[in-house]
Amino acid sequence: MKFVIAMMKHETNTFSPVPTPYESFTSHGAFYGNDAYEAFKGTNTPLAAFIDLAEKEGAEIIIPIAAEAWPSGPVHAQAYQRMTDAICEAVAKGSDAVFLDLHGAMVCQNTDDGEGTLLERIRSIAPNIPMAVALDLHANLTDKMIANCSVIAGYTTYPHIDMYETGVRAGNILIKALKGQAKPTMDWTNRPMLAHTLCMGTDEAPMGDLVARAKAIEGKEALAVTVFGGFPLADFNSAGLSVVAVTDNNPKSARDISNRLADEAWQRRREFVYQAEPLAESVARAAKLSPGPILLIDHADNCASGGTQDTMAVVAEVMRQDLKDVAVGAIRDPEAVKKLIESGVGSNVTLALGGKMDMPSIGRQGEPLEVTGRVRLISDGDFIVRGPMYTGVTMHMGKTVVLDTGSIQMVIIENNHEPFDLEMFRSVGIEPTARQYLLLKSRIHYRAGFKPIAKHIVECSGVGVTGSDYSQFKFEKVRRPIYPLDADMAL
Ligand SMILES: [Zn+2]
Repeated sequence: MKFVIAMMKHETNTFSPVPTPYESFTSHGAFYGNDAYEAFKGTNTPLAAFIDLAEKEGAEIIIPIAAEAWPSGPVHAQAYQRMTDAICEAVAKGSDAVFLDLHGAMVCQNTDDGEGTLLERIRSIAPNIPMAVALDLHANLTDKMIANCSVIAGYTTYPHIDMYETGVRAGNILIKALKGQAKPTMDWTNRPMLAHTLCMGTDEAPMGDLVARAKAIEGKEALAVTVFGGFPLADFNSAGLSVVAVTDNNPKSARDISNRLADEAWQRRREFVYQAEPLAESVARAAKLSPGPILLIDHADNCASGGTQDTMAVVAEVMRQDLKDVAVGAIRDPEAVKKLIESGVGSNVTLALGGKMDMPSIGRQGEPLEVTGRVRLISDGDFIVRGPMYTGVTMHMGKTVVLDTGSIQMVIIENNHEPFDLEMFRSVGIEPTARQYLLLKSRIHYRAGFKPIAKHIVECSGVGVTGSDYSQFKFEKVRRPIYPLDADMAL
């Protein structure tokens, strides 16, 4: 047997000013053939699971591409074309089954439904080819995606620590089908609701409850059941919370299960609305807490949701209220990195940090913050993840500098990187467990590595294109009415 296995992942924030050319994928992956095998075999990813399943079956493995970029604006047309061409060409050469590690919220310049369009194209080349797809919990499902593959399963955790398991769930069903041991039938539904990302953590209600119900059903009545929180900042028609169920030759049951869970989510829709606290109050509250580490979560500027990772509002407030013993992870500012490297380790530097990118979608210009500090360390920014999310994968922060203001140690990096692993700090000589405050540009993924060491967590509503205040975004394509944009809507 011959299996085509590929990864093409991007969570698109259509409000993000960060461009997404092909190069965004190469800095974070874009491996081909044996390089892809070497890079991902043994990691906590769906791709690694597909490789293991294929090897168990003794199948020949073709990996046309394994590419992922940090979330950002719409994927450039050429990048999408190049990646999807690679996958389609591999399928066209002949294959018994296809296993795809996708995100599910990819919006491109040339299609709003990046995944659905790819799946449709594959099926036009190889009609009815068995195809398993692993998706992120933040996928926005579409009819086109469901109609053009055999099996979909998504992450059941946020932070996403079950990536490998998800690959196994999706892949195993397809392998059973190939052996004639199962006949997967799939259905899905959504409800008109744009859940807030900050309300999708699976270690708490409401998302945790829904996931638990889905798992219980999956164990009894279905082959796979996934509740997708959706990605609300991908402004296209089908964005939002959805449910997909895969059953064994029972389409009616798949429909009933997805409706049952979607109804429950809809009934609890108010719990999916995040209530923000003013920034100054959050920092003042944090100032009174002890002991550390106290996490300050700068969630409006999360690069893993399309944030520029260079807004300085939370850092500025922390300085204004004079918090001490703070480590900041991380500010993306290639210009500052260059300047600090030129100055050299041990030098004292005053510079305008961050705020390099304007955010026209929310009507804000970049606002750099003047800081003075000593260059403590310069690094290549590579580290291997030791914690539960992306375990074993090498991360590339690009050239990295630690700037010490006396009260604050700031990690300043070239490439985007959301802090979800303690090695992010440790690799640059900062011991996170020994700091009073850790200011993290993250929304939920920080919990994978940092929640176990945190004594307190304070969410800080700063500035950025990943904020939870929907009123600052101009939604144009999502279906209306939709909750909570149209708060008093009836179903
Ligand atoms: Zn996600």
